Amino acid sequence: MSLIPPSGTIEMFEKARRLERTGRRILHLEVGEPDFDTPEHIKRAAYESMKRGFTHYTSSRGVPELREAISEYVREWKGFEADPDREIIVTPGTKHAIYCACMALLNPGDEAILLSPIWTTFYACVRAAEAVPVELHAPWGCGFDEEELKEKVSDRTRMIIVNSPNNPTGGAFDADYVKAIADLAEDHGITVLSDEIYGRIVYDGFRQVSPASLIGVEQTVTVDGFSKTYAMTGWRLGYAVASSEVVDAMVKLQQATTTCPASFVQAAAVEALRGSQRCVEEMVREYDRRRRMLVERLSRIPGIRCERPRGAFYVFPDVSAAGKPSRQVVLELLEEKGVCVTPGSAFGRYGEGHIRVSYATSMETLSEALDRIEEYFEALMSQ
Ligand code: PMP
Repeated sequence: MSLIPPSGTIEMFEKARRLERTGRRILHLEVGEPDFDTPEHIKRAAYESMKRGFTHYTSSRGVPELREAISEYVREWKGFEADPDREIIVTPGTKHAIYCACMALLNPGDEAILLSPIWTTFYACVRAAEAVPVELHAPWGCGFDEEELKEKVSDRTRMIIVNSPNNPTGGAFDADYVKAIADLAEDHGITVLSDEIYGRIVYDGFRQVSPASLIGVEQTVTVDGFSKTYAMTGWRLGYAVASSEVVDAMVKLQQATTTCPASFVQAAAVEALRGSQRCVEEMVREYDRRRRMLVERLSRIPGIRCERPRGAFYVFPDVSAAGKPSRQVVLELLEEKGVCVTPGSAFGRYGEGHIRVSYATSMETLSEALDRIEEYFEALMSQ
């Protein structure tokens, strides 16, 4: 257990809750979940399946109809083929898919290259398998030095973890970078674990390339889920697409742990994938409005440098001009201004000097929080 780091986001959230209990009003910009409600047609599909009595265990791979819907979805949105009977497993949350994939593929002492800044769960899952995380700097989540990537590969490298669009930066890789990773994986027999949970939350016409569309399922594990795209965080549903060998290993872990995701949640997921996608378009349009406002205002604040991200619902401004650790900046913002954000130091070795600001919150909250962030930096930079 000592190998697994605690979640860096939870610390600030708990501090904020403590302040709220003393009567302080806190503006929450640390949240990693959509502020929208789950679309009505998806909820209805869950109720209807419950009414039909669909309330028992399912196959540990997930219900066949959902695996078929995932296979169709993967063909349409990710551009590769996956056999619903052998190459897909449905899991209670994408996190569980990531955990099972790491357990299935990594032996103690193996190395996993993480493109970093990186969401802590990847780090924790690699460590839980007693493998070694090797971080490669991917500034703003947008690119990396290909020579440096090659240098990170050793005879113990077993996995490369890609999360594009990325948590925490909101950055995403162009096709050339994805190809460089896929080619390297193919040359060295390394598996690419690609977390595509933000693949539909993209802006300015960007479309994410899936590594599996370049090298197939044999050497990739593609994970995705319903939490972000369909605002279904509490439903707990995700999936992995991989070779039948890896999926079989993950099924064994699922049988030993959770058995299967909730039956009626799987019925709702079929509706999410096959039903109207208008709800996704509407949510993305609203995120985009907030992103533009946020980037524009943050960029005008002295001491802040902010790239415009191409996906997800986070911005990751550089606040290194403040001349203090990101954790201290975040603590001061919380205590002095009542604004809760996440320190970059929670996202691996290359997160320091940044803060993560989530815009999965209303325009009003964002606007008020920006006023307070501005006040903080103006005072700090004029000292
Ligand atoms: N992957 C990434 C990159 C995430 O940011 C998150 C949520 N913070 C998840 C997976 C979690 O997904 P789920 O709710 O399906 O477990």
